Amino acid sequence: MSTLEIKNLHVSVETNEGPKPILKGADLTIGSGEIHAIMGPNGSGKSTLAYAVAGHPKYTITDGEVLLDGENIVDMTADERARAGLFLAMQYPVEVPGVTVSNFLRTAKTALTGEAPALRHWVGDVKDAMGKLRMDPDFAQRDVNHGFSGGEKKRHEILQMELLKPKFAVLDETDSGLDVDALRVVSDGVNRVHAETGLGVMLITHYTRILNYIKPDHVHVFVEGRVAAQGGPELADQLEAEGYDKYASAKV
Ligand code: ADP
Ligand code: MG
Ligand code: MG
Repeated sequence: MSTLEIKNLHVSVETNEGPKPILKGADLTIGSGEIHAIMGPNGSGKSTLAYAVAGHPKYTITDGEVLLDGENIVDMTADERARAGLFLAMQYPVEVPGVTVSNFLRTAKTALTGEAPALRHWVGDVKDAMGKLRMDPDFAQRDVNHGFSGGEKKRHEILQMELLKPKFAVLDETDSGLDVDALRVVSDGVNRVHAETGLGVMLITHYTRILNYIKPDHVHVFVEGRVAAQGGPELADQLEAEGYDKYASAKV
């Protein structure tokens, strides 16, 4: 049983006008095997939360902590966080010309475990994982993210998750830009890894659509840089019906 604890997290982003505070005391605890949906309006700081947990250099943690199994990870590099068991899709390069999917995944696996996986097993593992995601085998020989469609990018993310076997995954707007078929394949992938490995999931989303496919155990309403309310899956239905207005502080 692992836990990812975000405690009183304050984060500023570097801008041309200096550091701008975005997260203002975010609290959230996720256990292995749990799926937590983080829902909130645009600009509430959901992606900032994901980047801060990922260790993106532009996002400075000014207060609070992020604990993975009790160990504070805020001073770790993004690579060290990955080795500790965090999977954050956006830490990976957007496009890697000249590096095939197959080589990229093997390099990532090697970096994680400190040992190159035996090629004869690895090729089969990649093939199996791609089959489950209904990906064409030729995909393994394409350059990473080069000319990928939105759906292919998301499948590639889930493929990484399937092969790298993290303890926790932070999925930021995984549903954006997917048609229903791609959404189903990607959701099935998340559900399968969750069921098979006890993956803990932080599922960040603006819309409830993906929650028809990935059933959260807990829902957190994220507004103005912190968790404003939390509840069970029924909270997502309530947000769908009522929106986020009642959680926002009065605007001047
Ligand atoms: P969400 O993902 O909930 O839509 P974000 O975390 O992307 O919210 O953004 C939260 C706020 O932080 C927004 O007001 C956004 O403009 C601001 N912000 C985020 N990143 C930057 C950045 N790199 N430079 C300037 N402002 C930023
Ligand atoms: Mg579960
Ligand atoms: Mg966002």
